[in-house]
Amino acid sequence: MKHADIVIAGAGIVGLTLARELTGRGARVLILDKEDAPGRHASGRNSGVLHAGIYYAPGSARAATCLEGNRLMRAYCLERGLPILESGKVIVARSPAELPILQALFERAQSAGALVRLIDAGELRAIEPRARTVDKAIHSPLTAVVEPKAILASLRQELEDGGRAQFRFGVQAIGPAQQSGSAVTRTLSTSAGPVEYSVLVNAAGAHADRLAHAFGCGKRYVLVPFKGIYRKLRPEAAHLVRGSIYPVPDPATPFLGIHFTRSVSGDVYIGPTAIPAFGRENYGVLRGLDAEAPEILWRDAVLFATNPTFRSVALSEPRKYLFRHFFADAARLLDGITPEDVLPSPKAGIRPQLVDLEKNALVMDFLSEAGDSELHVLNAISPAFTSSTALAPVLADKVAELAG
Ligand SMILES: Cc1cc2nc3c(=O)[nH]c(=O)nc-3n(C[C@H](O)[C@H](O)[C@H](O)COP(=O)(O)OP(=O)(O)OC[C@H]3O[C@@H](n4cnc5c(N)ncnc54)[C@H](O)[C@@H]3O)c2cc1C
Repeated sequence: MKHADIVIAGAGIVGLTLARELTGRGARVLILDKEDAPGRHASGRNSGVLHAGIYYAPGSARAATCLEGNRLMRAYCLERGLPILESGKVIVARSPAELPILQALFERAQSAGALVRLIDAGELRAIEPRARTVDKAIHSPLTAVVEPKAILASLRQELEDGGRAQFRFGVQAIGPAQQSGSAVTRTLSTSAGPVEYSVLVNAAGAHADRLAHAFGCGKRYVLVPFKGIYRKLRPEAAHLVRGSIYPVPDPATPFLGIHFTRSVSGDVYIGPTAIPAFGRENYGVLRGLDAEAPEILWRDAVLFATNPTFRSVALSEPRKYLFRHFFADAARLLDGITPEDVLPSPKAGIRPQLVDLEKNALVMDFLSEAGDSELHVLNAISPAFTSSTALAPVLADKVAELAG
């Protein structure tokens, strides 16, 4: 493990799809991950929804890659025989006040080229008989559900079989190491010793800002963790949901609100929340808390004081730890659901959300920053799983530029 052409730190969906793109272009790639397998964090703990280009600001990287990513990932699953549920989704309005936002969302989706229909309550009943709405809803037939871990395993297999990629698990990328003297290679310090590289890609998800900072990059940004917890419908109530039922989201936040998603296994998940967390891997109440917790708490306090969006999330989300609040939120989307229908679930994920310290604002788009020979992927927020296959060529072009 002394030298590699391109080193990718992070075997989540961003790292693996980029490795696939780069090896497809003829490069040799070394992929490091601090865990023992791909997808131990966000990429293996998400809802598995292939989004269909509805929510994202015109001109944003999220808008530019979501639809194409959906098409490519769908094709990948079909080609490789991976589970996919082409169940579509509906977005419903919980109150008359949400109707103008629903209408604006519909227009935004249409102008982005997404396949969507504005439907009335009768049409909604035919698609999702138990979904509740006020007057109108959006139907997105191209929203699909996949099994993220199966996709990650397939990508790993493909990379291993291709002979141009090597994996090293249980190895943490730390920062720049003492230069070896060569003008064209640099050295990365890792928990398993130094590695020389021509280009390093930091795809370290929730830890990407720390790794970037070690290289003196992205200092104006910091990642703040939000916890997504899920519950699920008991099997006898799973028939209440055919596909996915989402609320109208708050356009000021990057989160979509608690929703129902039928997974490829047939389980119907409810969630995720977006509760401010106190650790980058704080999946349980106390699990994953470390020495950084006071710093995160302080950062959250500053955001609470200065950023109205963060304040509204911080005020509304934590109460969803309590069953009655979680249930009340979910029940606004579905007729006939009772508290007995909702079971606990161990499924939980952390969304690392980039904050711009100069503006005290949440960064609402994908963001990467380049150093001399390093590319730092700093804000692979949702829908980065969906977008990954379309984002990979964009990142690969940046790697090619750095490689000269
Ligand atoms: C609850 C939840 C629900 C979501 N739902 C959806 C959805 O339905 N659809 C969708 O498109 N997106 C969804 N997302 C977003 C999506 O999961 C993420 O955008 C995406 O997985 C980010 O991928 P990543 O590769 O950047 O990060 P990760 O998957 O977190 O991968 C980063 C990897 O880097 C490794 N690592 C970290 N630090 C180091 C280091 N120093 N050295 C070596 N390795 C390191 C980690 O072990 C990890 O394997 C959701 C996210 C969450 C949390």
